[in-house]
Amino acid sequence: MKPLQEIMHNDETYYMNTFGKRNPVAFTHGEGMKLFDTEGKPYLDFFAGIAVNSLGYHHPALTKTIQQQAQKVLHTSSVFYIEQQARLAKLLVTNSCADRVFFCNSGAEANEGAIKLARKYFWNKGEPRPEFITLQSSFHGRTLATVSATGQEKYQKPYAPLVEKFIHVPINDIEAFRAQVTEKTAAVMLELIQGESGVHPIDPAYLAEVRNICDEKGILLIFDEVQTGVGRTGKLFCYENYGVEPDIFTLAKGLGGGVPIGALLAKEPFCAFEPGDHGTTFGGNPLSCACGICVIQELLEHGLIENAERTGAYFQAALKNISSPLIAEVRGMGLMIGVEMTAGIGKTVQKLLQEKGILAGAVGDKILRLVPPLIITEKEVDIFVTNLTAVLAELEKGV
Ligand SMILES: *Cc1c(COP(=O)(O)O)cnc(C)c1O
Repeated sequence: MKPLQEIMHNDETYYMNTFGKRNPVAFTHGEGMKLFDTEGKPYLDFFAGIAVNSLGYHHPALTKTIQQQAQKVLHTSSVFYIEQQARLAKLLVTNSCADRVFFCNSGAEANEGAIKLARKYFWNKGEPRPEFITLQSSFHGRTLATVSATGQEKYQKPYAPLVEKFIHVPINDIEAFRAQVTEKTAAVMLELIQGESGVHPIDPAYLAEVRNICDEKGILLIFDEVQTGVGRTGKLFCYENYGVEPDIFTLAKGLGGGVPIGALLAKEPFCAFEPGDHGTTFGGNPLSCACGICVIQELLEHGLIENAERTGAYFQAALKNISSPLIAEVRGMGLMIGVEMTAGIGKTVQKLLQEKGILAGAVGDKILRLVPPLIITEKEVDIFVTNLTAVLAELEKGV
């Protein structure tokens, strides 16, 4: 049996299938922008494990960080002070609008914490507010509260009754938003660029008005920056692109460069948790925080945020330059780019690119999602564009 066949056999026999039919490839290792599969075939990676591998593969600083930390200690418990946790907290707070941070293990857990924090804030004031407003087509995670926050019925249906009460409004429609605001509204939770539903950026004027309404009504504004955060959009945090600050925001995907870590950040008045209110066993352990420090330092000290902005702009311009009737729209910010097709060929394009040794994400059947490592250069962008142009030309002949 070939290695891949054995992996597939064990997976299909022993693993709970929540992924449907997986892409029949398994990777053994990577280097920079490249991944290698069990047959030794190289791929240029524009997917990055869904916007996670911000430094690419086998990054020397991150590898060294993990090796050195493994030789010291991996986990101690938040019962004790943790040097790396305190350092990463300082690094994130001094580089953001937040005053404090809490570490956890994933995006869903960070958002779950944000929802609890908003509830606790109003509970402390003696005026509990039960309602949250989120967007249709949003994605906030798979725990029961975050699935309730997620504005997509397909993720919610089997889990009724959901957590009360999340109201979903259409993106960029300020009147629809205003119509749902009541004295019971605790918080609004938004992705600044909806990732999971196909790279849909929030309109700046809409966001500014949401901020105004929140200020007027004492409603907390939460940004889910699980995907947009940590340099991806050409700023350390995407809210900097908008000039609008949240009261609470969350991070996860890119923060550990592939090592699981999530973060919940808030301005001082909204740090409503008191001892015993919230917790985690693994969250903020020395290993994940050492990796977070390494990633943030690499971004800040080696120009990777500027690279996301510059190479992202180059990438978008090059994609817009492809003259194919099959491309309807190119959108996004920095290195978070969506390419919408005019026909339901997204999955086919993804497959044909993969045959040519290029990994891209597909959302639904029409949209390609490109979220490459932040170390990408123009050379790799050119390779992508050449291959996409060739794939689209093939498909145009077939149509
Ligand atoms: C991926 C994602 C999540 C969920 O993160 P997990 O680590 O999978 O729990 C939440 N919000 C957004 C915007 C995401 O992209």
